[in-house]
Amino acid sequence: MKKRLTLLGSTGSIGESTLDVVARHPDRFSVYALTAHRNGDKLVAQCLRFQPEVAVVGDAETAARVAAQLRDAGCKTEVAYGPQALVDVSKSAQCDTVVAAIVGAAGLAPTLAAARAGKRILLANKEALVMSGAIFMDAVRDHHATLLPVDSEHNAIFQCLPSEASAHGGVSKIILTASGGPFRTREPSTLVDVTPDEACKHPNWVMGRKISVDSATMMNKGLEVIEAHWLFGLPGERIEVLIHPQSVIHSLVSYVDGSVLAQLGNPDMRTPIAHALAFPERVDSGVAQLDLVQVASLSFEKPDYARFPCLALAMKALAEGGVASAALNAANEVAVDAFLSRKIGFMAIAQTVDAVLNALPNRTPSGLDDVLEADAAARRAATVFIESHLAGARRMDRTVQ
Ligand code: NDP
Repeated sequence: MKKRLTLLGSTGSIGESTLDVVARHPDRFSVYALTAHRNGDKLVAQCLRFQPEVAVVGDAETAARVAAQLRDAGCKTEVAYGPQALVDVSKSAQCDTVVAAIVGAAGLAPTLAAARAGKRILLANKEALVMSGAIFMDAVRDHHATLLPVDSEHNAIFQCLPSEASAHGGVSKIILTASGGPFRTREPSTLVDVTPDEACKHPNWVMGRKISVDSATMMNKGLEVIEAHWLFGLPGERIEVLIHPQSVIHSLVSYVDGSVLAQLGNPDMRTPIAHALAFPERVDSGVAQLDLVQVASLSFEKPDYARFPCLALAMKALAEGGVASAALNAANEVAVDAFLSRKIGFMAIAQTVDAVLNALPNRTPSGLDDVLEADAAARRAATVFIESHLAGARRMDRTVQ
């Protein structure tokens, strides 16, 4: 039977890669809903090609523009807007599979709705799981949803774990590989001056701007450690980060008998997306076969926590538990946004997250409201920190002049 998809964040990097795979297999997949935030033009082009029943955008103005363009082109796709519309298409009985590819906390509500509706969820939106942790995993279990990781590292681990959950006893640790991003070898004293474009120039992957900055600070790897903890049920001490600049080994699982299983492939997100879309079958993803002779050598290094304080902060948040991961994620989103809009420098991202984690009290969330409250408090604290940081910088400027 054809799988019927809701694709949350279809206009993003993961969204486009997903549609590329979907287009190769019209006999296997059809599209029920596509969603974007503000990029109406790209969404219209996708609707004309994939003819979904529903398209969702962020606001009324974009919705009116998209609806008019679709009407003029004779396309029958219905257009909706706003957070509730995202939830509606995620839990609709018209779809069985939800690809969660919205960036950031905005993806939490629809992804959780998909879990509560018992859908098959292909999870790229790691921030949703980092924020809600046990609440999300309980929803998956209680509503018999299926959770398949799309993040390349987690998809690799999923492929290397034994298929029997009971066989988890033989796993000694999981090893998440990390390329080290664009600043792995850059002189640390020059990191204060990096521009958003430099930070977004990843050596191996083409991704959206937020995750690109997260890769440059290595917060992305920190979020992935937290994601791996929830997905695979291992404590932080049994999740190791290994720098592997070539991004050919996507992650590894180490077993008590000394075996280490790895998943390799060219760095192209269509591989994990195709794996999760077709699981347990395998389909062509459009990705070229890996040529190991051409790769020739693979290298590995320990992560440098002094150069990448965000990685250490994420590990700390995981160890603290409670709402610390939600606060870390929210502070990071605010700081990355300020960096991308050139309000703060690169190093101020980690400073903001650190200040927020130190300022806010931690507690065990009794439900989603506590998580959302921690998220909101962390966003307020991050904004205050950034404003005072900027005021300090302005005072310094005046003193120097
Ligand atoms: P992009 O920035 O490329 O795309 C984000 C998508 O989310 C777009 O469709 C965007 O719409 C939509 N969106 C943005 N803000 C909102 C909002 N407030 N409400 C609803 N929709 C919104 O991101 P990526 O595709 O790179 O990443 C998506 C997720 O996947 C992230 O969580 C990331 O960490 C994860 N991921 C990404 C990988 C990659 O290779 N890119 C690899 C592994 C994980 P619009 O275009 O209209 O702005």
